[in-house]
Amino acid sequence: MTSLTHDGQSAQSNSPLQEQGAAMDATSVSGKCLCGSIVFQYTGEPNWTLHCHCESCRRATSSPITTWISVPRSAFAFTKGAPRYFHSSPGVRRGFCKNCGSPLTYENERIEGEIHIYAVSLLDANYASPSCHVFVNEQLPWFEALDDLPRFATTGRDGASPIRIGPKKKKLD
Ligand SMILES: [Zn+2]
Ligand SMILES: [Zn+2]
Repeated sequence: MTSLTHDGQSAQSNSPLQEQGAAMDATSVSGKCLCGSIVFQYTGEPNWTLHCHCESCRRATSSPITTWISVPRSAFAFTKGAPRYFHSSPGVRRGFCKNCGSPLTYENERIEGEIHIYAVSLLDANYASPSCHVFVNEQLPWFEALDDLPRFATTGRDGASPIRIGPKKKKLD
């Protein structure tokens, strides 16, 4: 079981993906920016997929929640175009389309074996399968999701227990 975070503090071990010579085949998944000038592809199963409520993700996407997919860097490639990078903190770069502005990638030197991408940038976002919510201690009070996934106060790493399963219950008054 891998630890769950997107913020680069996990001791993440990559899934075994030794087939460097293998062509991107039927198991590959593609995504793109809004204007289509950047297209990417990854092969195999993600390390994890989760919803993050933290403020830096909110700032980076101007949205109340961000759904991340972590994939091994070796399994990921841009197949059309290339992003511009914003260095949001030391060792962290965020890739985006310089034409349309779509955020595309998150990379952190502390977890150089991984690249994090936005689930909703996939050509078919139905493919994404989030397993939990993280940083719900920063969740906006006017936003809630109805799924029954576990919610972690910060991350799910180091065996952290979820603070809740499913959405906040509406107070009856
Ligand atoms: Zn674009
Ligand atoms: Zn976040």
